[in-house]
Amino acid sequence: MKVLQGLEPQKVFDFFEQICAIPHTSRHEKALSDFCVEFAKKRALEYAQDEMGNVIIVKEAAPGYEAVEPIMIQGHLDMVGDKTQECELDLEKDGLRLRIDGDFISAEGTTLGGDDGIAIAYALAILDAQDIPHPRIEAVMTVSEEIGLLGATAIDLSMCKGKRLLNIDSEVEGVLTAGCAGGRRAYCRIPVRRVKKQGIDVQLRLEGLLGGHSGTEIDKGRVNACVELGRFLALLREKAKYGLAAFSGGVKDNVIPKSADAGLVIGQEEIGTLKEVVAEFESQMHAEYGTADPGLRLTMDERGQCELPVLEEASLDLVLDALNLMPNGVQSMSADLPGLVETSMNMGTAELKKDELRLNESIRSSVTSAKEQMARKVEMLIRRLGGTVEFSGDYPAWPYAKDSKLREICVELFEKQYGRKPEVTVIHAGLECGILSDKIPGLDCISLGPDLLDIHTPQERMSIASVARTWEYLKAILAYK
Ligand SMILES: [Zn+2]
Repeated sequence: MKVLQGLEPQKVFDFFEQICAIPHTSRHEKALSDFCVEFAKKRALEYAQDEMGNVIIVKEAAPGYEAVEPIMIQGHLDMVGDKTQECELDLEKDGLRLRIDGDFISAEGTTLGGDDGIAIAYALAILDAQDIPHPRIEAVMTVSEEIGLLGATAIDLSMCKGKRLLNIDSEVEGVLTAGCAGGRRAYCRIPVRRVKKQGIDVQLRLEGLLGGHSGTEIDKGRVNACVELGRFLALLREKAKYGLAAFSGGVKDNVIPKSADAGLVIGQEEIGTLKEVVAEFESQMHAEYGTADPGLRLTMDERGQCELPVLEEASLDLVLDALNLMPNGVQSMSADLPGLVETSMNMGTAELKKDELRLNESIRSSVTSAKEQMARKVEMLIRRLGGTVEFSGDYPAWPYAKDSKLREICVELFEKQYGRKPEVTVIHAGLECGILSDKIPGLDCISLGPDLLDIHTPQERMSIASVARTWEYLKAILAYK
């Protein structure tokens, strides 16, 4: 039994439900990509599919729209696959279990993938329809957006004639995104050496933090668990002797770490001091972050006598320097667009291996030269510490265009439909528009989408009414001439 049956617009929800039945987490989009190809074949539409799974489907202009400039409709095929602890689904193999609660669609125990399945559903519904007026449509569906915009980076757009692009990957109805930051990942490695040390095995855990997306939440002043646990270790070093056996925190370069762990080997005589420093640190943290990250706690677990390989003193210096000196958080705000973070850094993961410290950093900036300067700083610091940096996943910013015909149309039609002005904004997160604009000089882009809440989490939900209004809005944009 279909869960979404009866919802309007029926075609959109029907395609969305079919998409949800096909596993399509990042790097596992093949089946959904093939589904889109089959869709095009059945309707004799021109299409292209590359090795990665990116798909482009073309539909010629409806009668009367032959002279109107083509328009690209773009979204990504992949979704973030997150689930609750109790959920038994394997998101690489199983479809989602949709459910409706009032105005919201969600998936039981998992992410919904409304980000960005709804874009694909809209695109297929438009390509499928016979009664929607539109110019030549070029539907561009990319893979692996969520893990570094990989599909958009690799896609060949030479078959596209469009110079206008509607990206359907924004999550607030009524907010039109007209620019975004660029970014780069830095993977840092610093060699360390170890010696055996006897003492009490103490496990420390910094937790209870809010974390969040390193683009959209970087300006919330939240605690980065890796950075602040590094700070605790530096504070402790001023007061007690200890050996560092383990350190790890964070899950991904573009996520603010919610927790971090450290394993110490420490003499029995230092335990009292350690407890005092833990209490001192907690009260300092609450004073500094009480508003932005109120749940912070540092827990300590004594596990008895042990002998473990810990960092040599010189290596401990290097690790503490790296954790404490690496630039982190908001680096500068835009002078042109009030409230916009211009440049930021996020230490996404930190992990102490047997013979090296590994850090994954996410650099973001809406100004390319500022991004380059951040990369330079990281390289200089890591070089000082005897390590090496590999940069990857570089993507260009999508600069706000002073003049944009497409934006004007979208604003005008929004006002007409909603009776109010849309918010036009520039974001600090990354969108594929930057990469695609780089491939098509002069590309006029705008990003929009229906209301999606708590994306990238098992609480993700999508507003049915908003999907319906956004569908009307999309059709109006396509019909404009
Ligand atoms: Zn997305």
